[in-house]
Amino acid sequence: MPLMTLSQRKAFFQALNKTYPEPKCELNWTNHFSLLVAIILSAQCTDKSVNKVTEKLFQAADTPEAMLALGADKLRSFIKSINYFNNKTKSIILLAQVLSEKYNSQVPHDFETLITLPGVGRKTANVFLNIAFHAPSIGVDTHVFRLCHRLKICTGKTPPEIEEKLNKLVPAEFKPDVALALVLHGRYICTARKPFCEKCSLYNVCPADEKRQLNPADSSENATKRKGKK
Ligand code: SF4
Repeated sequence: MPLMTLSQRKAFFQALNKTYPEPKCELNWTNHFSLLVAIILSAQCTDKSVNKVTEKLFQAADTPEAMLALGADKLRSFIKSINYFNNKTKSIILLAQVLSEKYNSQVPHDFETLITLPGVGRKTANVFLNIAFHAPSIGVDTHVFRLCHRLKICTGKTPPEIEEKLNKLVPAEFKPDVALALVLHGRYICTARKPFCEKCSLYNVCPADEKRQLNPADSSENATKRKGKK
């Protein structure tokens, strides 16, 4: 599969940035600890389903101490509607313990320390740094992984491989926003089963094999013209 050329990539990332100039994470959080907890909860779950449980959970506990006081059983009952709630309960309680005992209840700000924490892998650490500090950290979730292949940005067998390649390929100016922009694009426009090419502002810079030829009737430009004639 031929990948995007350097000039295609440049045009693509510019168009992506123009479409999503200030992409926002859709998880709700109140502080760095609750952000990290929300990201852990979001593995294999939609942000919407996480927000549904964290609305009440964070009212009850959004600090390591409060989470430890809440305890595993109550935490489990708050999050039981989401995937892997048993494992996530264990990770969050352990995380709260470690933060409370070793880090003065503060979430560390550096990647190498973050990935030593319970429940925190590369993706979670990158997403945390990106959202908390707008750091140029690229968290490779399912949308980022899928779009890199579909849009021929780069290929890789694993998320860390894609992360490494994106770090080399994405121009520095776009790095802080690229992961969230790809997530939003993959979630709402370039969806897995049937991408909404007719609504896509990246249409002209997209080399995907799945890109659908637009029926002139689908084109928003034509729709605008038709409206203007009435
Ligand atoms: S044109 Fe279609 S395939 Fe290409 S990025 Fe847009 S939605 Fe995805």
